[in-house]
Amino acid sequence: MKSTIFQSMEQTFIILKPSTIQRGLVGQVIDRFQKKGLIITGIKMMQLDEKILREHYAHLIERPFFPDLLRSMMATPVIVMCLCGKDAVEVVRSMTGATNCRKAAPGTIRGDLGMSGQENIIHASDSVENAVIEINRFFRHEEIFTYRPLTFTATYSPDEID
Ligand code: UDP
Ligand code: MG
Repeated sequence: MKSTIFQSMEQTFIILKPSTIQRGLVGQVIDRFQKKGLIITGIKMMQLDEKILREHYAHLIERPFFPDLLRSMMATPVIVMCLCGKDAVEVVRSMTGATNCRKAAPGTIRGDLGMSGQENIIHASDSVENAVIEINRFFRHEEIFTYRPLTFTATYSPDEID
């Protein structure tokens, strides 16, 4: 993976899940991230298969809902994205909200846009370490772009960017 735009910036990984594609919420979800000030450094549509999902959700393979989760994640193509910003992993996780949309706080993506524990709009990396692993799992090196958006100087103070 290419280095981030600034040393102080992180990259995180998200998946717009099949229910988000089916329900026509793609634009709304991306709009939230862009309005927040995160920038898109990678984006593509892809059909997930069992092999990549068994890696991505390895921590859940033994859970009873895993077969349903597999079916749900393969129901349509998904949109995978790499987002960049200061503390991007933590910022995106807090924008995402609790796993179960019915328990997720209003104002979060899951809290505002969903009703399900499984069909919960997006996946978002849960740590900086996992973000690196997940970006490398879903994107090729040349699919991640590094650029300096003009908006950064209005989005951050000078000491927040390097
Ligand atoms: N999931 C589910 N039932 C559960 C827990 C999780 O269907 O009881 C699904 C849900 O789609 C969730 C995904 O498995 O987003 C991954 O679970 P994890 O615990 O990693 O939650 P997340 O990090 O997505 O909040
Ligand atoms: Mg998780």
